[in-house]
Amino acid sequence: MPQSVITLNKAQIDKLKTDYQAFLIAPKSPYVAFAAKKNGTMITAYTSGKVMFQGNHAEKEASRWSTLAKPSVSKAGKKTSPKNSTLPKDFATWSVIGSDEVGNGSYFGPLVVCAVYADKAHLSPLQKLGVKDSKMLTDDQIRTLAPAIEKLVPFQKLIVSAEKYNQIQPRYNAVHMKVALHNQALYLLLQKIAPEVPEGILIDQFTPETKYRKYLQGEKHPVTDKLHFITKGEQYHLAVAAASILCRAQFLESLATGSQEVGITLPSGAGAKSDQVAARLLQKGGLDLLGKYAKLHFANTKKAQDLAKS
Ligand code: MG
Repeated sequence: MPQSVITLNKAQIDKLKTDYQAFLIAPKSPYVAFAAKKNGTMITAYTSGKVMFQGNHAEKEASRWSTLAKPSVSKAGKKTSPKNSTLPKDFATWSVIGSDEVGNGSYFGPLVVCAVYADKAHLSPLQKLGVKDSKMLTDDQIRTLAPAIEKLVPFQKLIVSAEKYNQIQPRYNAVHMKVALHNQALYLLLQKIAPEVPEGILIDQFTPETKYRKYLQGEKHPVTDKLHFITKGEQYHLAVAAASILCRAQFLESLATGSQEVGITLPSGAGAKSDQVAARLLQKGGLDLLGKYAKLHFANTKKAQDLAKS
């Protein structure tokens, strides 16, 4: 039977209901906002916003509302993918190692890189835990989720303290350092899960693939196969979302530990607050102390030095 589906908002569905007033029939499910039968065409509006037209005049009837409808669902009723991505279709259902990093943009705190292996069997448990884009989670939720993720799936976490970062940074630029860390996390995790191998590896993209592969050439154990890159990777596979949560939880913990050690709350980010706190650390223990907790090559250091003098 020919059918057509459009997606509307609540107000628009109410408008349709008024239009089909003379043709309404009893809805068969609580998920149906209204149902109507007009000249042999069934019109079913769901509370989700989908409106389905079935019958010989389905397309014609649906087209009456085409100016209201968002470009939506195909005639077969299949979901169109939310965004065009370079990833294979159904990638979200693959067994995947995902990697991400946190701390790169924060003056205080470490740089943390994590890789997580989420095979098919663990996708649903991860989802049930509440794993999703860490930007949509509160710090408290992240702190609760991280240990649950670590219990559930294989992972590899690498923490570069600010102190260590300051030693490496003159030789490795930020991108090179991240490539080395992602690669190391992937390499170690692949060893952990062997002989099992993932169907794909998804890196939350921070540099073009060509540049990533260029820096890989200097690595002792380069992981080069099955690599996929995409920005906002956490939206494309739960493995990246989980990795991002582990990174963030570790970053928060390190920042809290550091704050305790120095007796001053170390802020996240790289704003004016960071300058002020850094100035206090400089007054307390000079660059030696500051360099234990802050990434010194940031412009914040100069600002903090000026503040500390004034
Ligand atoms: Mg990222």
